Amino acid sequence: MPACTHCSATFSILPREQEFYDTFQVTCPSECPDCRRQRRLMFRNFFHLYHRTCDLTGKKIISMYDKGTPFPVYGIQDWWSDRWDGLQYGLDPDFSRPFFEQMAVLHHTVPHIGFMNVNCENCDYCNMSNGSRNCYLVFGNVGNEDCMYGHIVWQSKNCYDCLYTYRSEFCYECIDCVQCHTLAFSRGCDNCTSSMFLVHCVGCSDCFGCVGLKNKRYHIFNEPHSQEDYRKKIAELNTGDIRTVTHAKERVQALVGKEIVKHYHGFNCENVTGDYLYNCKNILEGYDLKNCEDCLYGATLDSFTDSMDCNFCGINVGKRAELCYNCLTIGPNYRMFCCHASQNDNANLFYCDTCHGCQDCFGCVSLKKKRYCILNKQYTKEDYEALLPRIIEHMKNDKSGGAMNRTSETSSGSWGHFFPRELSPFGYNETIAQVYFPHTKEQALQSGWKWKEEQPDELNQNYLGPEIAIPDDIRDALDSICNQILRCEGSGKLFKIIPQELKFYRTMNLPLPRKCFMQRQEERFAFRNPRKLWKRNCAKCKKEIQTTYAPERPEIVYCEECYLATVY
Ligand SMILES: [Zn+2]
Repeated sequence: MPACTHCSATFSILPREQEFYDTFQVTCPSECPDCRRQRRLMFRNFFHLYHRTCDLTGKKIISMYDKGTPFPVYGIQDWWSDRWDGLQYGLDPDFSRPFFEQMAVLHHTVPHIGFMNVNCENCDYCNMSNGSRNCYLVFGNVGNEDCMYGHIVWQSKNCYDCLYTYRSEFCYECIDCVQCHTLAFSRGCDNCTSSMFLVHCVGCSDCFGCVGLKNKRYHIFNEPHSQEDYRKKIAELNTGDIRTVTHAKERVQALVGKEIVKHYHGFNCENVTGDYLYNCKNILEGYDLKNCEDCLYGATLDSFTDSMDCNFCGINVGKRAELCYNCLTIGPNYRMFCCHASQNDNANLFYCDTCHGCQDCFGCVSLKKKRYCILNKQYTKEDYEALLPRIIEHMKNDKSGGAMNRTSETSSGSWGHFFPRELSPFGYNETIAQVYFPHTKEQALQSGWKWKEEQPDELNQNYLGPEIAIPDDIRDALDSICNQILRCEGSGKLFKIIPQELKFYRTMNLPLPRKCFMQRQEERFAFRNPRKLWKRNCAKCKKEIQTTYAPERPEIVYCEECYLATVY
C-alpha cells in the first residue's frame, strides 16, 4: 500500500481506481484521497466577499479576491465582455522549467473574474452561481429562483437559510432536504411537505416535531393524531414566535437518537459507499451526489458519469458531465483533467482554470470559446497535437511531485496532480477546506500556506447606534426593522434584515433570525455527518455496513434492506 506523500497515511488503490488511472495515463496518485480533496478545496473561497475596484474599469466591485492580489480582477460583466482577450497573456512552454511554475506566471498575470456567476439574473452577491434568478447570498447557487442565505442549494425556489437542499420549495432552516415543500427547521428529510421540525423523516406531510418517521401524516412529536385534532393543535401554536420555535427544537432534540436510520442518507441507489447519495449507481466514497454513476471519491456533484476526484459541480437540469478527473467546480463538460471553475460546455481540457466554451486546451486561464491553446497561446490543430504529448511527458518527469517550491521525494511527477497548494490565491481559512479539514493558523503557516487575518470590523467596533431588541413574535416586527442594524447573538457581529426577507418570514409565519448569516450557517454545518466511513454492523441483521454514523452515535443504524423492510 502506498503512503501519502502529504500526510504519510497509507491508502489502498482498488482495481476500479486503477482502470481510471489507465484511462488517463496517470501513474497512481502519491497523495491519499483526503489530501487530494483538501488540495482542491484550498482553491475554493465561497463565502468571503470583499470590496475592491475592477482593474479594467476602475469601478467598485464585490469580489472573492481581496485587494492586493498579484493578478488583475475584473467585474463580472467586464470579465465576460470582449474588451480584452486572454490570449494576449500567452506564454511559450519552457521545457527547462516545471510546468506548474509556468502556470503560476500565467495565473499571476491573467485577469480573474470577481466572482463566479454564470448565466444568472439579479444574483449579485452569490458566489459560485449558475443559471439562477433573484437570489441573495447563496453560495453554490445552481438553478435556483428567489433563494437567500444558503450553501449548496440547487434547483430550488424560495428556500431561505438552507444547507444542501435540492429540488425543494419554500424551505427554511433545512439541512440535507431533498424534494421537500413547505418545510422548516428540518434535517435529513426526503419528500416531506407542510411540516416543521422533522429529523430523518421520509415522505411525511403535515407533521410537527417528528423523528425517524416514514410516510406519516398528522403526527406531533411522533404521536399520531386525527386530522381534525392535528389541525386544531397546530392552529393553537404560533410558529412566528421564537419561544414556540425554541420549545419545539428542545422537544425534538429529546427524540433524536432513538430513531432507526438507514446507513446512508439518500434514496434510489445501487452499489454505493459514502453518504447523502440520491439516484446514484456504482459510487465509491461519494458524498453529496445526485444522479451520478460510476464515480469515485467525488463530493457535491450532480449528474456526473465515469469521473473521479471531483468536487463542487452543480449542473442544471438535463445536462451531464462525463470523464472528469481531479476537478473543482466544473459544469456539463466532457473529458476534463485537473481543471478548475470551468463551467460551460468545455471538452478535452487539461489544467485549465476559469475557461468557458473551450475545447482542446492545456494550462490555460480565463479563456472564452477557444480551441488548441496552451498556456493561453493559440496553436494550429497539428501543432497542438504535437506539443501535447511533450508537455505531458515533461510533467511526468518533473520530480517536484506537484509541489511548486518544495522538493519532494515522490517519483510520480506532477502529471495528474491538481494545482499546487501554493498557487491558491486564498488564505487557508478563507476556503472551504477549513470547513472539512480545519487547521489553526499555526498549522496552516507551518505547512507553508497562507492565512487571512480577519480585518478589524470598523463598523462593528465603532458602532454606537442603539442596540435593537429583536421582537419575539414576527407580528411585532415593523417594516422599519429593515432600516435598523441588529447585533448577532452568537458572534456579536452586526447584521441586517432586508425587506424581501421580512416578507418571507411573515408569509411563512417564522420569527426573525437572531444571528448573522455566517453564524447560522456554521451551526447548520455542525448537524451534518462527517465525510468519514466507519465499518459497523446492521443493528437488525448484523450484516456489515459502511456508514458515516460513528460507532458511539445513539441512532439505530440499519442496512438498506432492513430499513426498507421495516414498517413504522
Ligand atoms: Zn440489515
